[in-house]
Amino acid sequence: MGDPFDIVVVGAGTGGYSTALRAAQLGKRVAIVERDERLGGTCLLRGCIPTKALLQSAAVMDTVERASEWGIKAAGEPDWSAILAFEDSMVDKLVKGLTGLVKLRGIEVVSGSARIRSGPGVDVGDRALDTSAVVIGSGSRPKMLPGLELTPRIITSDQALWYDRIPASAVVIGAGAVGLEFASLYRSFGAEVTLLEALPRLAPLEDDEVSKEIGRTFRRRGITAVAGAAVKEVTDTGDAVQVIYEADGASHGVTADLCLVAVGREPVTDGLGLQEAGVALTDRGYVRVDELLRTTAPGVLAVGDVAATPLQLAHVAFTEGIATAERLAGIDVPPIEYANIPRVTYCTPEIASVGLTETQARETGRSLVTEKLDLRAIGKANIVGEGGFVKVVAEEGGGPVLGVHMIGPHVTDLIAEAMLITSWEATPADVAALIHPHPTLSEGLGEAMLALAGKALHSA
Ligand code: NAD
Repeated sequence: MGDPFDIVVVGAGTGGYSTALRAAQLGKRVAIVERDERLGGTCLLRGCIPTKALLQSAAVMDTVERASEWGIKAAGEPDWSAILAFEDSMVDKLVKGLTGLVKLRGIEVVSGSARIRSGPGVDVGDRALDTSAVVIGSGSRPKMLPGLELTPRIITSDQALWYDRIPASAVVIGAGAVGLEFASLYRSFGAEVTLLEALPRLAPLEDDEVSKEIGRTFRRRGITAVAGAAVKEVTDTGDAVQVIYEADGASHGVTADLCLVAVGREPVTDGLGLQEAGVALTDRGYVRVDELLRTTAPGVLAVGDVAATPLQLAHVAFTEGIATAERLAGIDVPPIEYANIPRVTYCTPEIASVGLTETQARETGRSLVTEKLDLRAIGKANIVGEGGFVKVVAEEGGGPVLGVHMIGPHVTDLIAEAMLITSWEATPADVAALIHPHPTLSEGLGEAMLALAGKALHSA
């Protein structure tokens, strides 16, 4: 007999720790197995939190650069070691908080690499953990381009977060969330930036009009942003990186201080003994799960980036972890509706969306109405000094809002209201009847709904 637990969670990232915290709250005996020295996983240690700390420093730099627009004489320059110290302090604070919470809830942290047994059970070194449920939350890591190796100048976000300097110039490959965020922050810190995206548009998962707007604003910020770029060669020459790519039928070369590869993430499943335990993977290597996040092995579930569910986002992992813990405690939790999960990218300008893009909504065969509200119609956006838009896609004839797409200041915070609107299937008239405070950026969404309800106040 090994140590008896109700649930053993593999991985202390967002998916794993949310499962563990909720399960312990529901009275379960829980262990988390983690091989990293610190709890927190990608989000806290190598993802959301450190990136957003760097982006906050970048935003301060942008504000200093533009200070005279608000009548302030200011000048400044990034102090990279102090920026890294701020980043470290944010990570440390949150890791400490999480570690304390895990202890407080009586969760046992088992240090080491987990190997899953059918039954189920988990082995960590010599120790056997017996349990009635195993939850795999082993996460993901940055993907490299095929045939390309990491070098001091060819890096992924893992290295970029604690790089030893601000690059004078950078080529960023991939214009998903990671690529957009790093291209933006490198530019804010003064680097010459080239952003290369293989697909025909930047931010390919967003609405077409958002892609166009981010391309326009990035170019205005001095970023060379190229969509439809096929990267042919990346070479570290020792004192620079050379990238050859094809676009518009011609071959181009760019030389830079570093190359950040931001072409997606891949699941971490090696060493877990999944095949022997009867846990099947998808063609792309993710853990196959049903709509209740159960794998093909009895008593083994999967949450977060490693699970073959639609979005690799921390808030998806939280949702999956909480749902899994509750189901294991006998609570009836319906399948997660991934369509209503907001997506947020913290570049300048910020991007946020929820629900269907206009193209996806048209593909459903429904008749639509759309409104694209220019944020310059909103007083507060002018004061903050940033434009952008709020685009709403709704069913024609007073039907529900199907999607909201925003680009501009603080839209990553504003999207939460749109999430309620799409999740509750509210119509533009429902929302137009509610009062948005003035002067706030939230009026952008309010005004777009007023326009769709036929009573625009500040827009044509
Ligand atoms: P991604 O899959 O979102 O984007 C990668 C991009 O790289 C895609 O647009 C793809 O077309 C492009 N690409 C792939 N191969 C290429 C090539 N050879 N040349 C040029 N472009 C190429 O992946 P990511 O941006 O690395 O992010 C990884 C995951 O982490 C995603 O799921 C993302 O949503 C998540 N993430 C989220 C946030 C956030 O929510 N703010 C921030 C960072 C990462």
